[in-house]
Amino acid sequence: MFVKDPCGIVCIIVTYVAVFYADYVVVRWVILHSLQDSLWGPFHVVAFNTIVLLLIMSHLKAVCSDPGVVPLLQNRMDFSDIHTDNPETKIEFDERDSWTVCTRCEIYRPPKARHCRICKRCVRRMDHHCPWINNCVGERNQKYFIQFLVYVGILALYALGLVITSWILDCSRCNNDIAVKQSRILHCVILVLESALFGMFIIAMLVDQFQGLW
Ligand SMILES: [Zn+2]
Ligand SMILES: [Zn+2]
Repeated sequence: MFVKDPCGIVCIIVTYVAVFYADYVVVRWVILHSLQDSLWGPFHVVAFNTIVLLLIMSHLKAVCSDPGVVPLLQNRMDFSDIHTDNPETKIEFDERDSWTVCTRCEIYRPPKARHCRICKRCVRRMDHHCPWINNCVGERNQKYFIQFLVYVGILALYALGLVITSWILDCSRCNNDIAVKQSRILHCVILVLESALFGMFIIAMLVDQFQGLW
């Protein structure tokens, strides 16, 4: 199931550009520049790219997996007399533990299922529709979504740590040409801003996710 939502597709492209840019800066301008003499260089290249790989795998799983869409046929019934002026009309009992009706999908749906306007389907235990994975976060893909958030958080902290380390280590054999230095400063500043921005965003999302789970 791939949702054709322009905002979601843009967000996915932005995610990949941000991750690959961070990888490029960390490898080319941080590790190859400051840690080229030590064994820590290859270690950090391998470790950083392993986290990138895990991040992409959890992201793809969150994007491509079914969030828990309520099947249309199984619960379908005749709703011709339920449609009224208000499309959100539903049979209101206690919504927490009883089945409700979705007049858009024309189905009975289990407790805690909600309708997503972007996916145009009802999703079991729907948390929210996340444009970053262009999918709903629901019963079946929430674990991949949380994994993705954790990997983004680790990657952001790791990148920040490497940038700080590389500025503390003064490398005498490195190319200290003024143009090289300027590009390095520029890339590192963008990387730090990107990591800080994504880091704060991810912390807010994770707090929200864990509050929802408890
Ligand atoms: Zn629905
Ligand atoms: Zn959705």
